[in-house]
Amino acid sequence: MSAAIAKRRAATPADLKARAKRARAQGAGSAATDRARRMLAAYLDTAERHGLPPAKVLSDMASGRAAWQIGTALRDEMLRTPPEAVKNAACAAGCAFCCILSGGDGGTITETEARRLHDALAPLAGQPDGRGWHPAACAALDPETRACRAYDARPMICRSFLSTDAGACRINSEGGEAKGAGLLGTHLDYLALHALARETLKGISRVATYSMSRIASGAVDGETAGDSLDAARHKPGALEDACRDAARAAVGRG
Ligand code: SF4
Ligand code: SF4
Repeated sequence: MSAAIAKRRAATPADLKARAKRARAQGAGSAATDRARRMLAAYLDTAERHGLPPAKVLSDMASGRAAWQIGTALRDEMLRTPPEAVKNAACAAGCAFCCILSGGDGGTITETEARRLHDALAPLAGQPDGRGWHPAACAALDPETRACRAYDARPMICRSFLSTDAGACRINSEGGEAKGAGLLGTHLDYLALHALARETLKGISRVATYSMSRIASGAVDGETAGDSLDAARHKPGALEDACRDAARAAVGRG
């Protein structure tokens, strides 16, 4: 039996909690790491109390399902008393400059997000997609209405991005650096949770991240989920960079 398999079998929520205490969310900064550590500890406490099978806890942390559950609850709670940036958001249906992914990567997403996005888009393979509107647009976009065709499966980064000025978004989509757009502060917490899960599971289980735009284009180009995930898998370091970017781009915390 390999050392990783032996560790995986032995890893109870209590063991993972002890590991999480020592782990750091690389790139997220100490305040976000501390918040993520507290949230992960609470998640593991709940898992222990409810007797969730350790293998399920481990797989949920590795795939990003755990971060998704916690991050969604955090975002929903924040939106109940929205910060000014949310109240003043200019976002509207068909306004899609933020879906022009000029950097090519489109955002750092977890395996759970990648699989959901691929599943939602695969049935649309071969249909006209966002790249017909703009060559750098996300392939999930409808080129006519400029609505997201994977709205319910869109990753957290799409749910967290907002702007008080659509004109600024247009400028930024052309390579400018206009102010007004940013990511909800809860997005950093979401990424920090996943980064902490990665450090906690080091030597036990792989925690990968993926390029959102590559998953979307692979799905509409008819690739299998396995091939898209293989092609979209990030090199180590992308999650750390994404945490740094989220810290820089944070707007409003509830
Ligand atoms: S983030 Fe910008 S481009 Fe996207 S919907 Fe909001 S205002 Fe429009
Ligand atoms: S998944 Fe949807 S919301 Fe996100 S970038 Fe693509 S089209 Fe836009």
